[in-house]
Amino acid sequence: MSRIRLGIMGGTFDPVHYGHLVAAEEALAQFRLDRVAFMPTGHPQAKRHPVVTPASDRYLMTVIATASNPDFEVSSLEVDRPGPTYTVDTLRELRRVHGEDAELFFITGADAVLEMLGWKDAGELGALASFIAATRPGYDLALLSSALDLIERPPHVDLMEVPALAISSTDIRERVAAGRPVRYLLPEPVAAYIAKNGLYGGGGA
Ligand code: NAP
Repeated sequence: MSRIRLGIMGGTFDPVHYGHLVAAEEALAQFRLDRVAFMPTGHPQAKRHPVVTPASDRYLMTVIATASNPDFEVSSLEVDRPGPTYTVDTLRELRRVHGEDAELFFITGADAVLEMLGWKDAGELGALASFIAATRPGYDLALLSSALDLIERPPHVDLMEVPALAISSTDIRERVAAGRPVRYLLPEPVAAYIAKNGLYGGGGA
């Protein structure tokens, strides 16, 4: 029996958009993954995310966005875990569940990987998973290499260029707040959820 190759798509997903979905699909194909589990962050770091939409909304939007893809699933592991979210805790738990033989690939934005030195137990991450850093075309690879050099036993990191990552959650939140269109930036049912629940300072339904 071959070993399972599991992608874990980590992010705040506030909200999830087509850039994330394209990145996950690309990782699935490029790294021959068996499936990708989206992992919305439960309680992200306050420094980067002073205001974050409730985890239940971010989780539901991710479920809605991925529902039609049989290779995608959504995990509530981080949403359900109390206290600040640390990737090392998630990877330890997934190792325990899937066993030593499983191959784990943590997929996230290159800018987040760049700051990995500051993550809890950064030196242990490489023993738990390899990392796929999704970038826009033209990303400066040297930035990432010098950041990883600072970590003792750095994880293996592959770069994956994803042009669709020109879409950003920040831009979508700002558009909703300003009443500007978000159509074609994220799945229609997610846009409907945002409108119905009045997220991001939009008018609501
Ligand atoms: P972020 O800093 O909000 O995002 C940095 C950049 O990466 C943004 O441009 C973001 O675009 C993009 N991005 C985020 N997730 C992505 C994904 N899955 N695929 C493609 N692009 C993505 O990052 P974050 O969401 O807070 O954190 C990313 C992951 O790292 C999460 O799983 C988080 O839990 C983990 N993390 C762990 C620690 C720790 O263990 N101490 C600390 C920080 C982050 P969008 O805004 O458009 O998504």
